[in-house]
Amino acid sequence: MRDIIHLQCGNCKRKNYTTTKNKKTQQGKLEVKKYCPFCRSHQVHKEVK
Ligand SMILES: [Zn+2]
Repeated sequence: MRDIIHLQCGNCKRKNYTTTKNKKTQQGKLEVKKYCPFCRSHQVHKEVK
């Protein structure tokens, strides 16, 4: 039961990454610092549907 989620850049709001998450083991909102090619820097990416 893994759901596909998108990771959205907190700065420009673009969806740069997709990942999967197991709702049973990972609760709450996912936040990952990843490189955003549009901002050309590392930004915090937050989980969106
Ligand atoms: Zn960005």
